[in-house]
Amino acid sequence: MKALFMEKVVDLRQDKEPLTMREVPIPGPADAEILIKISACGVCHTELDEIEGRTPPPSYPMIPGHQVVGRVEKSGKKATRFKSGDRVGVAWIFSACGECEFCRSGQENLCPEFRATGRDANGGYAEYMTVPENFAYPIPKIFTDEEAAPLLCAGAIGYRSLRLTGMKDGQNLGLTGFGASAHLVLKMANFQYPNSKIFVFARSEKEREFARELGAVWAGDTTETAPEKLNCIIDTTPVWKPVVEAMKNLKPGGRLVINAIRKENLDKDYLLQLNYPEHLWLEKEIKSVANVARRDVSEFLELAAKIPIKPEFQTYPLEHANQALVELKERKIRGAKVLVMQ
Ligand SMILES: [Zn+2]
Ligand SMILES: [Zn+2]
Repeated sequence: MKALFMEKVVDLRQDKEPLTMREVPIPGPADAEILIKISACGVCHTELDEIEGRTPPPSYPMIPGHQVVGRVEKSGKKATRFKSGDRVGVAWIFSACGECEFCRSGQENLCPEFRATGRDANGGYAEYMTVPENFAYPIPKIFTDEEAAPLLCAGAIGYRSLRLTGMKDGQNLGLTGFGASAHLVLKMANFQYPNSKIFVFARSEKEREFARELGAVWAGDTTETAPEKLNCIIDTTPVWKPVVEAMKNLKPGGRLVINAIRKENLDKDYLLQLNYPEHLWLEKEIKSVANVARRDVSEFLELAAKIPIKPEFQTYPLEHANQALVELKERKIRGAKVLVMQ
């Protein structure tokens, strides 16, 4: 099969070909695994974090990709959940131990043995992959393969971030950064909290216009002060300035949820502008969101089918994965980027 491999940490500003295409044997499923023939795999900002070394794979070579859609080709000896030909998805959570205090309390995303698809185990930038059958999800019929792929990460983690805000219907929600995950959160929040107002902070006027079209009551620049104080804000940016700026827009007791696996250090000194009385005092909180649990993925897929949420996407042949990654790095974004396999 054809597959794209990460082989070392790469500086994407210098090296525009971070992944190497190779022909390798199709993997066989272990007893509790399924083999999937992949048809689509989303391209995620986390792949940039892996490639550039902010969350690198523990060993090389590694096939990236954690928003995978395909059909079951073969089941391992003890895998009985799916039939050959069933359409399934794979998300960021590849496996967890199932026995630790976190796994037993439904927080498998915090398991010390958490393994991520496409970082700790080979992922979806390939024609085939294997995964434990209990970490695959049936895909609702309403979605095409290309539509379903970006939902598996941006959607599922967006769902988890919204859950972690603890918000209630009628409360004000802010979104700072307005990429793939934030679009989906806006649509989810409109549906789940019909009496809430949503405020969006984004750098470009184009993004702000799009936010208003999707139903934000107000959209302004990252540093602006919103016309009302907000109960909670979700940050989906890779940097620090929006974190500091968001805190001033929170109500007393408000919560900022940072939805980013790693922050880039480009503007880390902006944190020195944090002014305790203005940004943090009055019991404001900052909480990060880490990984996803299976529950987030399956609940979100159900919700997305019901609303329905159909992501905008742009497709690339598998062979052009490097181009898709470089364009993501350079913020040339028209909807989610999805690799398609023929
Ligand atoms: Zn992702
Ligand atoms: Zn565990």
